[in-house]
Amino acid sequence: MSYEPDTLESPTTGSRADVSSSKHASNTSLSSPAEHLEVGLEITDRCCQACDYCGKNCSPQTGKRDKMELADFKKVMTTLMAEFGCKKVKILGGEPALCKFYVELIEWCSANGLETELITNGVAVGEEDLVRFSKLANFRIAVSIQGGSEEAADAIAHLPGSHKATLTTIKRAIGLGMIPLVTMITFEKNTHTQSEARESLLKVGLPEKDILFIPPRALGRARRLAAHDKTVQSAYSENCRTCTKGALTINASGDVYACFVSSTSLGSIFEKGIAEICRSEGFSQELARIRFKARNDPLV
Ligand code: SF4
Repeated sequence: MSYEPDTLESPTTGSRADVSSSKHASNTSLSSPAEHLEVGLEITDRCCQACDYCGKNCSPQTGKRDKMELADFKKVMTTLMAEFGCKKVKILGGEPALCKFYVELIEWCSANGLETELITNGVAVGEEDLVRFSKLANFRIAVSIQGGSEEAADAIAHLPGSHKATLTTIKRAIGLGMIPLVTMITFEKNTHTQSEARESLLKVGLPEKDILFIPPRALGRARRLAAHDKTVQSAYSENCRTCTKGALTINASGDVYACFVSSTSLGSIFEKGIAEICRSEGFSQELARIRFKARNDPLV
C-alpha cells in the first residue's frame, strides 16, 4: 500500500467530540505538536495481494501477529487527540478492509473530528461499506492500482481478478459522490501501462488531479527491485514527506514507530502507554535520525 501524506482535500467540518478539542500537552518530546498531528494505523498486516513492490512485505500469509482490537485503537487515538493534538489519521495495512472492524474504526475517527483517510487496494471493500463511508464527514478513500491493464496489474498483485475488483470499487465510490485519490506505483513492470491507467481512470470520471503516479521506495520487497530497477527511490526520499514530518505509526501488533519508513519499534502499547512512548528519549532520537537520513540520503 502506498502511503502518501496530505492527500485529503480541504476538510469539511465534521462533528467533533470533546476529546479532540482538549488542550494539547506542551511538555512532550515531540519538537512541536503541530509536526505530529498525523497518525498511521496499520490495522492489519495481512493483504489479499502480494505486490512486487510492497514496502511492508504483506501477503495473504502475513497478519498472524495482529492483535490490536478496535478498543485498543480507539484508546490510542483518544490519547493522541487529547494530549498531542492529533487531527489526521490514515487507516492502512496490509489491506485494512480485511480487518473485521475497519468500517467501525473509520466511522469512529470521522465522528471524532479526525480527517480520516482509508488507504486500500479496493479489492475487499464492500458496496455496503462504501455506502457507509459516503455519509462521513472528513473522510477520503485512497485506492492503489497496480497497473493500467488487467494483465500487468494482476501479475504485480499476484491476484487474478484484482484489477477488475479495484476498478469496481473506484467506480462505486465515484457513483456515491466520493472522489478517491488513485495512486499507481510505477516501475519497470508497469510503466508501459501508465497512459492506459490514466485513460481508464479519466473515463470513469476521476479528475486528473486525483491520479498519482509515484516511484517505489526501497522498503520491503521493493528493496529487491532496487538492484536492477533505477526507478526505485530511497526509503527516505522527498517522495515520502512523512520522513520529514515523522508521521507516527502504530501497527496491528501494537508496536509504535516514529514514522512509516522506520523499522525501529519504540515500544508496544501493550507494555507502555502511547503518551509515554511519544515522550520518550528514544522517540526523539529516532525522529532525529529519520530527519537526518531524509536530508542526507536522497537517493538509493
Ligand atoms: S496492496 Fe500490495 S502494496 Fe498494498 S499492502 Fe497489499 S501487498 Fe502491500
